[in-house]
Amino acid sequence: MTQHPETPAGSRAAQADQQPLPTRTQLLDHELLQAAQALKERDLWRTPLTLLAGCAPTAQLSQEAPLLFCSNNYLGLANDPRLIAAACAAAQQWGTGSGASRLVSGTFDLHRQLERALATLKGTADCVLFSSGYLANLGTITALCGKGDAVVSDALNHASIIDGCRLSGAMTLVYPHGQLDQCKERILQAKRAGARRVLIVTDSVFSMDGDLCDLPRLCDLADELGAVLMVDEAHATGVLGEGRGATHALGQSGRVDVIMGTCSKALASLGGFVAGSQVLCDFLRNRARSFVFDTAPAPSVVAATLAAISIVTSEPERATRVCQLASHLARSLRELGYDVPMPAAAIVPVMIGDSGKALALSAALRQKGVLALAIRPPTVPVDTARIRLCPMATHTDAQLDAVIAAFADCRHLL
Ligand code: PLP
Repeated sequence: MTQHPETPAGSRAAQADQQPLPTRTQLLDHELLQAAQALKERDLWRTPLTLLAGCAPTAQLSQEAPLLFCSNNYLGLANDPRLIAAACAAAQQWGTGSGASRLVSGTFDLHRQLERALATLKGTADCVLFSSGYLANLGTITALCGKGDAVVSDALNHASIIDGCRLSGAMTLVYPHGQLDQCKERILQAKRAGARRVLIVTDSVFSMDGDLCDLPRLCDLADELGAVLMVDEAHATGVLGEGRGATHALGQSGRVDVIMGTCSKALASLGGFVAGSQVLCDFLRNRARSFVFDTAPAPSVVAATLAAISIVTSEPERATRVCQLASHLARSLRELGYDVPMPAAAIVPVMIGDSGKALALSAALRQKGVLALAIRPPTVPVDTARIRLCPMATHTDAQLDAVIAAFADCRHLL
């Protein structure tokens, strides 16, 4: 326990008549400041940037307007007039809030329309809408697995999957990223330990590395060993497989039991979902606590997501363009000598390693008119800090060239 410097043990009474004792809030603040200082010393402290306009190819900050290359607005739809009009019209028709959870009076026809549209996009019988992707993962994993079950999880899965595993109380067996022989070992280990249900869970496109899981092999493993397969399509929905996701792109439709996704990235809105069989969806509506005990998403965001889905299907050139921009960016930065894996979708990580160096590069890029933040632990493993670049389909070729030029100028920093 940390002692407040002004209240050493035993001296409180002596000081009482000279100066007031620190309040509980002051004591807590003191402890938090110490914890914050420890993070700052390791270059791990973070401060949110305040943008003065929405998520567009160019960001508006108080003194500058840098190119925005760190959002997940892959298709550039976050300021599309069609989504804005849909959101406004829904607010006019349905009001600003849904007023209750989905199982009370919060299910509007609009929510069901979106669930049906997402099920159609994913090619499943039904779909369950949650308030966020985070809550979709948390609620689904905890509904499907508990004590006596096992979750077999890729080491680089998103934090919401990790938290779902922790909260579920199930035995969690983590396999090294992408190593499916190790995944198989963990499934067998779970079976030997007597697990009732074994759930394999993986991102399809990994959020910080931009690579793709080996879905055909994972499906085969699930078949062979009788496991359930859940895939997080947060970064593939709207981007891969004509917008339908990696499951479709890799020819595995019908082989993934639980397809999770989010409306907050390429779909430029808010909300998460799970698509699958009718039985699965009805079960989640009853047992996923983050569905049952959470207020239904607001009509405006639901309508915006519906508008985004219709653009995803009618304008496939957006997904094609953002993937081309990502590949071009990766190739160009590799030619400059940066360590950049080739992207599977629209995420381009520039691997740096040291958090301080990543911060310095990010600051130098900003000086040159590019906003691209340093991603540091705990978002990524220790010593793997990186700049995570994400183009939008609406970035111009000239804007991409400007980013490459900025990286060329900053090469000496590594
Ligand atoms: N899954 C993955 C792979 C993600 O990257 C994210 C968000 O960053 C989520 C889930 C959570 O989605 P949301 O931001 O919609 O809560």
